[in-house]
Amino acid sequence: MRRLVLLAGVIGAFGALASGQSSHDAYPADHNVAVGDIFATLRGDWARNLHDKKIDASVAEYSTDAEFFDPGGNTVRGTTELRQLFATITATYDSDLTFTSLQVGEFGELAYDAGSYQEALVLRATGKHQHSSGTYLTVYKRGSDGRWLISEQSWTGVVSDGAETIAQLAAHPVVALTFDDLPAAGSLPPGQNRNKVAAALAAELKANHLEGTYGFVNAVKLESDPDAQQALHTWVDAGMNIGSHTWSHISLSANPAEAFEHEIAINEPALAEYGETRDWHWFRYPFLWEGDTLDKRRAVRAYLRDRGYRIAQVSLDFEDYAWNDAYGRCMGKEDAQAIEWLKQSYLDTATEYIRLGREEQQIAFGHEIPNVMLLHATAFTTLMLPDLLELLQKQGFRFAGLDEVEQDPAYALDPDAALKYGGTLPDQFMDSRKLKYPTFKPKPFERIKHLCE
Ligand SMILES: [Zn+2]
Repeated sequence: MRRLVLLAGVIGAFGALASGQSSHDAYPADHNVAVGDIFATLRGDWARNLHDKKIDASVAEYSTDAEFFDPGGNTVRGTTELRQLFATITATYDSDLTFTSLQVGEFGELAYDAGSYQEALVLRATGKHQHSSGTYLTVYKRGSDGRWLISEQSWTGVVSDGAETIAQLAAHPVVALTFDDLPAAGSLPPGQNRNKVAAALAAELKANHLEGTYGFVNAVKLESDPDAQQALHTWVDAGMNIGSHTWSHISLSANPAEAFEHEIAINEPALAEYGETRDWHWFRYPFLWEGDTLDKRRAVRAYLRDRGYRIAQVSLDFEDYAWNDAYGRCMGKEDAQAIEWLKQSYLDTATEYIRLGREEQQIAFGHEIPNVMLLHATAFTTLMLPDLLELLQKQGFRFAGLDEVEQDPAYALDPDAALKYGGTLPDQFMDSRKLKYPTFKPKPFERIKHLCE
């Protein structure tokens, strides 16, 4: 997929074509009515028509007297100029543009949609890749037939080559570690408790200067469990952050959006209590399932956005939790040899799926992105974290915070597809765009399942 794009190209081409100056009309910004659906569709159509070079369809989105303001202050007016603009742009560039709407308002015959965009551009003549990002404001007017038509559209943005960052990443990949299912992930082996697990993980992170690492909380686990409560205090007191993972780890594939949203809401008091003044408005979908229908996916995304959450997407995942139960059984049997095999197979699998995740990014985005690795706060993770950190360092990874990593434009992209089994962000693009995966070794789950039985 070439999802990353190029408004830069579009903006640049628009600017080159346009002439004259214009000032923006005033537009209302103080209404925020929940009218997102129709405008989400219109945004999607706009980007798709540009991508597919459907010039007539693109021009038909505008009223006959529409004005288009490019980032340089130039203006294109009316159908004829717009058609010329879209013809030039689509001939010059391949565009893949994604909108992230921040606010939509509707009042009577007028509406507006404002937010940011990311665009991956390919200059057709040379094949050169560029990237553009910035903000947009679209003002719609309802036509006589009831259709919403764009009457004004204003853009800001910058174009960048992107090549420098990408080259840097290949040599020095970046990763933010994240831990799910706090304060109680998986079963406990003999002699362990939740607080010991949290303390061990936090101490190892701290020793590597990784304060601010995010753990995603299911507050149901705090109910009537002083050990779990203490564990979460220990995590936060050590300088780690928390985010939401829903109240009870609810599945969005198995439940309606409303039930899922309710679980986001009732998880908040615990986040506010334990997280105190920290930024706990980060959300990790349980199972990485973001909705098996488009309606659910869009509804929950809109809900999260309205409540101020950012989605803590994942780019690297090797299902690290799957070793924990076997570890507990082997500890119970004091089977040192089996535990040694568990450790080695955990590291082998991590290595294989880090490689796979990075290769998927090349296919899905055309380049590697800064990474977010999904881990779980299990007892086995306390045993493996030092080795895993060493493995990442040996591969040249630099550690970074979640907010730093997710500033990368790729994380603003929404595959916007119904996916029952979700997955990492690269997985979601691979699956929704039907891209071919690189080959990879399966995880040794069959052996793990029966180990030390
Ligand atoms: Zn989880």
